[in-house]
Amino acid sequence: MTIRLGVMGGTFNPPHRGHLEAARHVRAALGLDRVLFVPNNIPPHKRMPAHSATTAQRFEMVGLMVRDEPWAALSTIEVDRGGASYTVETLRALAGEGQALALIIGTDMLMTLEQWREPAEICRLATLATVARSEDDRAALRRQAARLQGLYGADVRLVDCPALPVSSTQLREQGGFDCLTPPAVAAYIEEHHLYR
Ligand code: ATP
Ligand code: MG
Repeated sequence: MTIRLGVMGGTFNPPHRGHLEAARHVRAALGLDRVLFVPNNIPPHKRMPAHSATTAQRFEMVGLMVRDEPWAALSTIEVDRGGASYTVETLRALAGEGQALALIIGTDMLMTLEQWREPAEICRLATLATVARSEDDRAALRRQAARLQGLYGADVRLVDCPALPVSSTQLREQGGFDCLTPPAVAAYIEEHHLYR
């Protein structure tokens, strides 16, 4: 039987409950076997802010986030590949293993997908499983889903779940790790004096 794999990429600087809950809901809605969290090596479309965690630290924090979730795993694929991390290359490698893929992305990422490397190929390789990042995102998501269907024949699923409007930026700037990241991640941030 084909493995149905969810793939959630990001900088995870730091990982937070928004990432975990989005993945949990998509997995249930689409009946995925597993979700891979894929910390990128170098994000091609964004500059890492000052006082970021290192790549190794982002990676370790994602490992701590998935540790107690039997359905979730950490993927080393982009860090192992090195250089700039392009989602299309990651999907190609994972699809080559014969798995059916669902790329899990929030609103901001669905809105900018056309600017990614090889968007048509991304849409050919994976279902796009999208989660709203705030309650008023949904109309924009529906419009963009229709647009990507028209442009690339994308299979876009808007997964209906309560939005958890948290971001890593907000956490880095305002704190709140204890409530908004898993306890092991909050402890790691404290122990390593991150985001001070
Ligand atoms: P930053 O503020 O540093 O950009 P972020 O919170 O947006 O961090 P990323 O690592 O950039 O986190 O995002 C990885 C993926 O997770 C993206 O597809 C993003 O849209 C999605 N995502 C992030 N936060 C949420 C959330 N609260 N709800 C749903 N999806 C989310
Ligand atoms: Mg982001």
